[in-house]
Amino acid sequence: MTQSFSELALSPALLKAVAEMGYENMTPIQAQAIPVVLQGRDVMGAAQTGTGKTAAFTLPLLQRMLKHENASTSPARHPVRALVLLPTRELADQVADQVKLYGKYTQLRSTVVFGGMDMKPQTAELKKGVEVLVATPGRLLDHIEAKNCVLNQVEYVVLDEADRMLDIGFLPDLQRILSFLPKQRTTLLFSATFSPEIKRLANSYLQDPVTIEVARSNATASTVEQHFYRVEDDDKRGVLKQVLRERGLKQAFVFVNSKLGCARLARSLEREGLNTAALHGDKSQDERLKALDAFKTGAVDLLVCTDVAARGLDIKDVPAVFNFDIPFNAEDYVHRIGRTGRAGASGLAVSFVSGRDARLMADLEKLLGKKLELEALEFEADRRPAGRFNDGQRAWQRDEDRREGGSRRERSGGEARAAQPRPPRAPSDPLFDKPYEPSAAGDAPPAWEVAQRPATRSASPNIKTRRKVPALFKSVPAPAPVQEEG
Ligand code: AMP
Repeated sequence: MTQSFSELALSPALLKAVAEMGYENMTPIQAQAIPVVLQGRDVMGAAQTGTGKTAAFTLPLLQRMLKHENASTSPARHPVRALVLLPTRELADQVADQVKLYGKYTQLRSTVVFGGMDMKPQTAELKKGVEVLVATPGRLLDHIEAKNCVLNQVEYVVLDEADRMLDIGFLPDLQRILSFLPKQRTTLLFSATFSPEIKRLANSYLQDPVTIEVARSNATASTVEQHFYRVEDDDKRGVLKQVLRERGLKQAFVFVNSKLGCARLARSLEREGLNTAALHGDKSQDERLKALDAFKTGAVDLLVCTDVAARGLDIKDVPAVFNFDIPFNAEDYVHRIGRTGRAGASGLAVSFVSGRDARLMADLEKLLGKKLELEALEFEADRRPAGRFNDGQRAWQRDEDRREGGSRRERSGGEARAAQPRPPRAPSDPLFDKPYEPSAAGDAPPAWEVAQRPATRSASPNIKTRRKVPALFKSVPAPAPVQEEG
């Protein structure tokens, strides 16, 4: 199979842009999808986030559009020829950036439209004429209804993160949009999973598609070191800071399950002196983009986010992802930890499992098809006083310095929260009283356990395991390895 971009039938303009990105070889999804799409076939692709799928559909898209390249200033000479649909504003923005980067040496025009922003500047861009339009479904329909764009010359459509679009309820919008497009076209559908709904969508709108699957659809990246710590709800913030400190982490994503929980956690971490931003669906578009930018530039260390807001975001080199809450939907775990260890870099995913999470963990084991070992932390109660540190140092590092200096004094001025010895906690869930009963599928240790660390070592030399495997689950039915559908 072709591995180098230079072996592809791509124009020098595109190859130059790819070379500037510093990519040496194609990723598996690129190696499989690009030649097929260049031949004009429809594709149904299952690829994990972080696999390079954006370039996999953007490069052949641009190549195929090159025949329409022209320098005319007339909008009529620049009708929409390719449409890329995504579920969220952030994803749309991100993909539009990549389209611009890969197309920078061509004369093809591209723009992005998504909700939460004034329609006027988007309308002005559309009226000038663009060959490649990246959009979220709702806002695109607004523009279609306002007659700001016409889609009757579209030749190439990408439905990215299709499963998420269906989750959000975009199916009717998608169906309407697709009804405006010519029947003769290339359609690419990417989805993390091939659920029956996705298959129905594909059957209705794709013609004889080539199915490309680069990894098991629910597999987690092998480059991510994963830990599940048993942590009671009240201790989560303290443990978060402890792990950040002990791992010497510079930045991290912290996932929570609700918008309210997200806002609250971000506020309380901020109050404790951690540079934090929140990313959730109630934030305005402007606030969301600002939060992302602040994280990207390093102005913010912790990005506390919900799943909808963070799905598919490509922020390079996020050293760690924390699941402050175990996701309600097990598949979100795969997406969350896809933020770290992207494109071959190693990453860390730490999940906090409380007494109420037994069912969610059982769902996760089932999805991943393996037993998840729960580790216990020697939690050093958080004695750090409240208040901001303004010297630019990360608050968790400052904690470390204080400890190294041998001092654990409280701050004066009544600010300090006195260190209270924690009463021993009775397990809140009877399931915890049962010893762990490994499932049949768990005979082999999880892959990362073998690859990443010896069985007896805890997450860091500073984290002491109290019990090797605390009881978490009632005997759950042996999680069968996830069967690939079709
Ligand atoms: P995606 O899955 O499209 O979000 O891409 C994940 C990350 O991989 C992005 O940061 C891309 O810039 C990067 N990437 C894409 N293709 C390659 C490649 N062939 N080699 C190295 N990195 C890549």
